[in-house]
Amino acid sequence: MRILENYNMKKHSNMKIGGDARKFIEIENKEELPELLKELKSYFIIGNGTNTLLNDKYLDTTFISLKKLNKITDKGEGRINVEAGLDFGKLIKYMGENNLSGLEELAGIPGTVGGLVFMNGGAYGKEIFDCIESVEILDEEKNIKVIPKENLKIDYRKTEIKENHWIIISANFKFENGYKKDLVKEIQTKRENNQPLEMPNLGSTFKNPKGYFAARLIIEAGAQGLKIGGAQMSMKHPNFIVNDGTATFDDVINLIAEVKKMVKEKSGIELEREIIILR
Ligand SMILES: Cc1cc2nc3c(=O)[nH]c(=O)nc-3n(C[C@H](O)[C@H](O)[C@H](O)COP(=O)(O)OP(=O)(O)OC[C@H]3O[C@@H](n4cnc5c(N)ncnc54)[C@H](O)[C@@H]3O)c2cc1C
Repeated sequence: MRILENYNMKKHSNMKIGGDARKFIEIENKEELPELLKELKSYFIIGNGTNTLLNDKYLDTTFISLKKLNKITDKGEGRINVEAGLDFGKLIKYMGENNLSGLEELAGIPGTVGGLVFMNGGAYGKEIFDCIESVEILDEEKNIKVIPKENLKIDYRKTEIKENHWIIISANFKFENGYKKDLVKEIQTKRENNQPLEMPNLGSTFKNPKGYFAARLIIEAGAQGLKIGGAQMSMKHPNFIVNDGTATFDDVINLIAEVKKMVKEKSGIELEREIIILR
Protein backbone atom coordinates (compact mmCIF):
# COMPACT_ATOMS: atom_id res chain seq x y z
CA MET A 1 0.00 0.00 0.00
CA ARG A 2 1.02 3.60 -0.58
CA ILE A 3 0.74 6.03 2.35
CA LEU A 4 0.82 9.80 1.91
CA GLU A 5 0.71 12.27 4.79
CA ASN A 6 -0.68 15.83 4.83
CA TYR A 7 -2.03 15.16 1.40
CA ASN A 8 -4.17 17.72 -0.43
CA MET A 9 -7.57 16.30 -1.34
CA LYS A 10 -8.86 18.95 -3.75
CA LYS A 11 -8.41 16.78 -6.83
CA HIS A 12 -10.18 13.87 -5.12
CA SER A 13 -13.55 15.62 -5.06
CA ASN A 14 -15.27 16.42 -8.33
CA MET A 15 -16.32 19.74 -6.74
CA LYS A 16 -12.60 20.63 -6.70
CA ILE A 17 -12.78 21.75 -3.07
CA GLY A 18 -10.76 20.08 -0.32
CA GLY A 19 -8.13 20.70 2.34
CA ASP A 20 -5.13 18.68 3.47
CA ALA A 21 -5.81 15.23 4.88
CA ARG A 22 -4.01 13.61 7.79
CA LYS A 23 -3.34 10.57 5.56
CA PHE A 24 -4.23 9.19 2.16
CA ILE A 25 -3.72 5.46 1.71
CA GLU A 26 -3.93 3.58 -1.55
CA ILE A 27 -4.64 -0.12 -1.08
CA GLU A 28 -3.04 -2.55 -3.53
CA ASN A 29 -4.85 -5.74 -2.57
CA LYS A 30 -7.87 -6.53 -0.44
CA GLU A 31 -5.89 -8.54 2.14
CA GLU A 32 -4.29 -5.27 3.30
CA LEU A 33 -7.62 -3.91 4.49
CA PRO A 34 -8.40 -5.88 7.71
CA GLU A 35 -4.98 -5.19 9.26
CA LEU A 36 -5.04 -1.53 8.29
CA LEU A 37 -8.51 -0.93 9.67
CA LYS A 38 -7.69 -2.49 13.02
CA GLU A 39 -5.23 0.36 13.57
CA LEU A 40 -7.40 3.23 12.34
CA LYS A 41 -9.70 5.29 14.53
CA SER A 42 -11.32 7.23 11.72
CA TYR A 43 -11.25 6.71 8.00
CA PHE A 44 -13.20 7.59 4.87
CA ILE A 45 -13.29 5.50 1.71
CA ILE A 46 -12.96 7.75 -1.31
CA GLY A 47 -13.81 6.59 -4.81
CA ASN A 48 -13.85 9.16 -7.61
CA GLY A 49 -15.26 11.81 -5.25
CA THR A 50 -18.12 12.51 -7.66
CA ASN A 51 -20.68 12.51 -4.87
CA THR A 52 -18.57 13.83 -2.01
CA LEU A 53 -18.05 17.38 -0.80
CA LEU A 54 -14.88 17.77 1.26
CA ASN A 55 -14.15 20.50 3.78
CA ASP A 56 -11.45 22.91 2.66
CA LYS A 57 -9.97 23.07 6.18
CA TYR A 58 -7.67 20.40 7.65
CA LEU A 59 -9.26 16.96 7.21
CA ASP A 60 -8.40 15.06 10.36
CA THR A 61 -9.00 11.62 8.91
CA THR A 62 -7.39 8.91 6.83
CA PHE A 63 -8.70 8.55 3.32
CA ILE A 64 -8.56 5.07 1.84
CA SER A 65 -8.61 4.64 -1.91
CA LEU A 66 -9.47 1.32 -3.54
CA LYS A 67 -8.76 2.62 -7.04
CA LYS A 68 -6.00 0.03 -7.54
CA LEU A 69 -8.60 -2.72 -6.99
CA ASN A 70 -10.02 -2.48 -10.49
CA LYS A 71 -10.11 -5.97 -12.03
CA ILE A 72 -12.96 -7.55 -13.94
CA THR A 73 -13.14 -11.36 -13.81
CA ASP A 74 -15.29 -13.31 -16.24
CA LYS A 75 -17.27 -16.04 -14.48
CA GLY A 76 -19.15 -17.22 -17.58
CA GLU A 77 -22.77 -16.99 -18.74
CA GLY A 78 -22.95 -13.20 -18.34
CA ARG A 79 -21.60 -13.27 -14.80
CA ILE A 80 -18.63 -11.08 -13.90
CA ASN A 81 -16.90 -10.04 -10.71
CA VAL A 82 -15.92 -6.37 -10.66
CA GLU A 83 -13.65 -4.79 -8.08
CA ALA A 84 -14.87 -1.66 -6.32
CA GLY A 85 -12.20 0.73 -7.57
CA LEU A 86 -13.06 0.33 -11.24
CA ASP A 87 -14.45 3.42 -12.98
CA PHE A 88 -18.06 2.66 -13.84
CA GLY A 89 -17.37 3.93 -17.39
CA LYS A 90 -14.89 1.06 -17.82
CA LEU A 91 -17.59 -1.41 -16.85
CA ILE A 92 -19.87 0.06 -19.54
CA LYS A 93 -16.98 -0.27 -22.02
CA TYR A 94 -16.47 -3.91 -21.00
CA MET A 95 -20.21 -4.54 -21.45
CA GLY A 96 -19.92 -3.16 -24.99
CA GLU A 97 -16.86 -5.28 -25.83
CA ASN A 98 -18.53 -8.42 -24.49
CA ASN A 99 -22.07 -7.76 -25.73
CA LEU A 100 -23.53 -7.61 -22.21
CA SER A 101 -26.70 -5.71 -21.40
CA GLY A 102 -28.46 -4.42 -18.27
CA LEU A 103 -26.97 -1.15 -17.06
CA GLU A 104 -26.83 0.95 -20.22
CA GLU A 105 -29.13 3.58 -18.61
CA LEU A 106 -26.34 4.36 -16.13
CA ALA A 107 -23.78 5.21 -18.83
CA GLY A 108 -22.01 8.47 -18.10
CA ILE A 109 -22.15 8.25 -14.28
CA PRO A 110 -18.61 9.28 -13.36
CA GLY A 111 -18.22 7.29 -10.11
CA THR A 112 -16.49 4.03 -9.26
CA VAL A 113 -18.34 0.73 -9.03
CA GLY A 114 -17.87 0.89 -5.21
CA GLY A 115 -19.41 4.38 -5.06
CA LEU A 116 -22.40 3.28 -7.07
CA VAL A 117 -22.95 0.12 -5.04
CA PHE A 118 -22.64 2.11 -1.78
CA MET A 119 -25.66 4.26 -2.59
CA ASN A 120 -27.45 2.04 -5.11
CA GLY A 121 -26.80 4.63 -7.79
CA GLY A 122 -28.98 4.73 -10.83
CA ALA A 123 -30.50 6.70 -13.66
CA TYR A 124 -33.45 6.65 -16.02
CA GLY A 125 -35.34 4.02 -14.03
CA LYS A 126 -32.42 1.60 -13.60
CA GLU A 127 -30.29 1.00 -10.49
CA ILE A 128 -26.96 -0.75 -10.20
CA PHE A 129 -28.46 -3.44 -7.96
CA ASP A 130 -30.78 -4.47 -10.84
CA CYS A 131 -27.80 -6.43 -12.22
CA ILE A 132 -26.04 -7.45 -9.01
CA GLU A 133 -26.30 -10.94 -7.48
CA SER A 134 -24.03 -10.42 -4.49
CA VAL A 135 -21.44 -8.06 -3.03
CA GLU A 136 -18.13 -8.78 -1.38
CA ILE A 137 -17.63 -6.58 1.66
CA LEU A 138 -15.42 -6.08 4.69
CA ASP A 139 -17.76 -6.07 7.67
CA GLU A 140 -17.55 -4.28 11.02
CA GLU A 141 -15.59 -7.22 12.50
CA LYS A 142 -13.04 -6.82 9.67
CA ASN A 143 -14.11 -10.07 8.02
CA ILE A 144 -14.39 -10.36 4.25
CA LYS A 145 -17.83 -11.73 3.33
CA VAL A 146 -19.96 -12.25 0.25
CA ILE A 147 -23.56 -11.15 0.84
CA PRO A 148 -26.31 -12.20 -1.58
CA LYS A 149 -28.51 -9.33 -2.75
CA GLU A 150 -31.60 -10.96 -1.15
CA ASN A 151 -29.98 -10.53 2.27
CA LEU A 152 -29.24 -6.83 1.79
CA LYS A 153 -31.52 -3.90 2.56
CA ILE A 154 -31.60 -1.84 -0.62
CA ASP A 155 -33.67 1.26 -1.27
CA TYR A 156 -33.74 4.35 -3.49
CA ARG A 157 -30.17 5.74 -3.38
CA LYS A 158 -29.58 3.87 -0.14
CA THR A 159 -28.23 0.54 1.08
CA GLU A 160 -27.48 -0.86 4.50
CA ILE A 161 -23.80 -0.92 3.49
CA LYS A 162 -23.76 2.75 4.48
CA GLU A 163 -25.49 2.27 7.86
CA ASN A 164 -23.22 -0.66 8.71
CA HIS A 165 -19.99 1.08 7.69
CA TRP A 166 -19.00 -1.83 5.49
CA ILE A 167 -16.39 -1.50 2.78
CA ILE A 168 -17.30 -2.77 -0.68
CA ILE A 169 -14.50 -4.83 -2.17
CA SER A 170 -16.24 -6.14 -5.28
CA ALA A 171 -19.63 -6.93 -6.75
CA ASN A 172 -20.88 -9.94 -8.68
CA PHE A 173 -22.94 -8.89 -11.68
CA LYS A 174 -25.22 -10.91 -13.96
CA PHE A 175 -25.96 -9.44 -17.38
CA GLU A 176 -28.13 -10.43 -20.33
CA ASN A 177 -26.88 -10.72 -23.88
CA GLY A 178 -27.20 -7.85 -26.35
CA TYR A 179 -25.45 -4.58 -25.45
CA LYS A 180 -27.63 -1.59 -26.37
CA LYS A 181 -25.10 0.68 -28.05
CA ASP A 182 -27.67 3.19 -29.31
CA LEU A 183 -29.20 3.57 -25.86
CA VAL A 184 -25.77 4.35 -24.38
CA LYS A 185 -25.20 7.01 -27.06
CA GLU A 186 -28.65 8.50 -26.46
CA ILE A 187 -28.15 8.68 -22.67
CA GLN A 188 -24.69 10.19 -23.02
CA THR A 189 -26.01 12.88 -25.38
CA LYS A 190 -28.82 13.63 -22.90
CA ARG A 191 -26.26 14.07 -20.13
CA GLU A 192 -24.11 16.37 -22.25
CA ASN A 193 -27.16 18.48 -23.10
CA ASN A 194 -28.71 18.64 -19.62
CA GLN A 195 -25.79 18.57 -17.21
CA PRO A 196 -23.12 21.23 -16.56
CA LEU A 197 -20.28 18.80 -17.22
CA GLU A 198 -17.89 21.62 -18.08
CA MET A 199 -17.84 22.83 -14.45
CA PRO A 200 -16.92 21.13 -11.16
CA ASN A 201 -20.09 19.57 -9.68
CA LEU A 202 -21.31 16.55 -7.69
CA GLY A 203 -24.34 15.51 -9.74
CA SER A 204 -27.76 15.80 -8.14
CA THR A 205 -27.58 17.66 -4.85
CA PHE A 206 -30.94 16.41 -3.51
CA LYS A 207 -32.84 13.13 -3.83
CA ASN A 208 -36.18 13.19 -5.59
CA PRO A 209 -38.86 13.16 -2.87
CA LYS A 210 -41.53 10.46 -3.47
CA GLY A 211 -43.80 11.65 -6.27
CA TYR A 212 -41.76 14.81 -7.02
CA PHE A 213 -38.67 15.92 -8.88
CA ALA A 214 -36.19 17.91 -6.79
CA ALA A 215 -35.25 19.95 -9.89
CA ARG A 216 -38.88 21.04 -10.42
CA LEU A 217 -39.28 21.98 -6.74
CA ILE A 218 -36.10 24.07 -6.96
CA ILE A 219 -37.38 25.92 -10.04
CA GLU A 220 -40.78 26.51 -8.43
CA ALA A 221 -39.13 27.89 -5.30
CA GLY A 222 -37.22 30.39 -7.46
CA ALA A 223 -33.88 28.89 -6.45
CA GLN A 224 -32.50 27.96 -9.88
CA GLY A 225 -29.43 30.08 -10.53
CA LEU A 226 -29.16 31.14 -6.87
CA LYS A 227 -25.51 31.91 -6.12
CA ILE A 228 -23.60 32.15 -2.85
CA GLY A 229 -19.93 33.06 -3.25
CA GLY A 230 -18.58 30.83 -6.00
CA ALA A 231 -21.30 28.16 -5.70
CA GLN A 232 -24.40 28.30 -7.84
CA MET A 233 -27.51 26.22 -8.54
CA SER A 234 -26.80 25.42 -12.18
CA MET A 235 -28.83 27.09 -14.92
CA LYS A 236 -28.35 23.92 -17.00
CA HIS A 237 -29.57 21.46 -14.36
CA PRO A 238 -31.47 23.01 -11.41
CA ASN A 239 -30.50 20.21 -8.99
CA PHE A 240 -26.73 20.48 -9.65
CA ILE A 241 -24.45 22.88 -7.77
CA VAL A 242 -21.56 24.18 -9.83
CA ASN A 243 -18.29 25.72 -8.67
CA ASP A 244 -17.15 28.71 -10.72
CA GLY A 245 -13.61 27.97 -9.56
CA THR A 246 -13.73 30.16 -6.44
CA ALA A 247 -16.31 28.30 -4.31
CA THR A 248 -15.44 27.44 -0.73
CA PHE A 249 -16.84 24.60 1.34
CA ASP A 250 -18.96 27.14 3.26
CA ASP A 251 -20.37 28.60 0.03
CA VAL A 252 -21.71 25.16 -0.93
CA ILE A 253 -23.03 24.43 2.57
CA ASN A 254 -24.80 27.79 2.78
CA LEU A 255 -26.28 27.34 -0.68
CA ILE A 256 -27.66 23.90 0.22
CA ALA A 257 -29.24 25.32 3.39
CA GLU A 258 -30.78 28.27 1.53
CA VAL A 259 -32.26 26.10 -1.23
CA LYS A 260 -33.73 23.68 1.33
CA LYS A 261 -35.32 26.63 3.12
CA MET A 262 -36.76 28.12 -0.07
CA VAL A 263 -38.21 24.80 -1.21
CA LYS A 264 -39.71 24.12 2.21
CA GLU A 265 -41.32 27.56 2.28
CA LYS A 266 -42.75 27.20 -1.22
CA SER A 267 -43.88 23.57 -1.25
CA GLY A 268 -43.74 22.37 2.34
CA ILE A 269 -41.37 19.60 1.20
CA GLU A 270 -38.15 18.88 3.05
CA LEU A 271 -35.46 18.06 0.51
CA GLU A 272 -33.03 15.32 1.49
CA ARG A 273 -29.41 15.62 0.43
CA GLU A 274 -28.02 13.09 -2.02
CA ILE A 275 -24.42 14.28 -1.86
CA ILE A 276 -22.17 13.23 0.98
CA ILE A 277 -20.46 15.88 3.08
CA LEU A 278 -17.22 15.32 4.95
CA ARG A 279 -16.62 18.15 7.43
C1 LIG B 1 -21.87 14.84 -13.59
C2 LIG B 1 -22.38 13.83 -12.59
C3 LIG B 1 -23.47 13.04 -12.91
C4 LIG B 1 -23.96 12.11 -11.98
N1 LIG B 1 -25.04 11.35 -12.33
C5 LIG B 1 -25.51 10.44 -11.45
C6 LIG B 1 -26.63 9.62 -11.78
O1 LIG B 1 -27.20 9.71 -12.86
N2 LIG B 1 -27.04 8.71 -10.86
C7 LIG B 1 -26.43 8.55 -9.67
O2 LIG B 1 -26.83 7.69 -8.88
N3 LIG B 1 -25.37 9.31 -9.33
C8 LIG B 1 -24.90 10.25 -10.18
N4 LIG B 1 -23.83 11.04 -9.83
C9 LIG B 1 -23.24 10.94 -8.49
C10 LIG B 1 -22.04 9.99 -8.38
O3 LIG B 1 -21.36 9.85 -9.59
C11 LIG B 1 -22.47 8.63 -7.91
O4 LIG B 1 -23.10 8.76 -6.65
C12 LIG B 1 -21.32 7.65 -7.76
O5 LIG B 1 -21.84 6.44 -7.37
C13 LIG B 1 -20.28 8.08 -6.75
O6 LIG B 1 -19.15 7.27 -6.92
P1 LIG B 1 -17.72 7.75 -6.43
O7 LIG B 1 -16.75 6.66 -6.66
O8 LIG B 1 -17.38 9.05 -7.04
O9 LIG B 1 -18.01 7.92 -4.89
P2 LIG B 1 -17.38 8.97 -3.85
O10 LIG B 1 -17.98 10.30 -4.08
O11 LIG B 1 -15.91 8.87 -3.84
O12 LIG B 1 -17.98 8.36 -2.52
C14 LIG B 1 -19.37 8.39 -2.30
C15 LIG B 1 -19.68 7.60 -1.04
O13 LIG B 1 -19.45 6.24 -1.31
C16 LIG B 1 -18.56 5.71 -0.35
N5 LIG B 1 -17.76 4.69 -1.01
C17 LIG B 1 -17.11 4.79 -2.20
N6 LIG B 1 -16.50 3.64 -2.49
C18 LIG B 1 -16.75 2.79 -1.46
C19 LIG B 1 -16.38 1.45 -1.16
N7 LIG B 1 -15.61 0.73 -1.97
N8 LIG B 1 -16.83 0.91 0.00
C20 LIG B 1 -17.59 1.64 0.86
N9 LIG B 1 -17.97 2.90 0.63
C21 LIG B 1 -17.55 3.47 -0.52
C22 LIG B 1 -17.74 6.88 0.13
O14 LIG B 1 -17.20 6.65 1.43
C23 LIG B 1 -18.78 7.98 0.14
O15 LIG B 1 -19.53 7.93 1.34
C24 LIG B 1 -23.34 11.98 -10.74
C25 LIG B 1 -22.23 12.78 -10.42
C26 LIG B 1 -21.75 13.70 -11.34
C27 LIG B 1 -20.56 14.53 -10.98
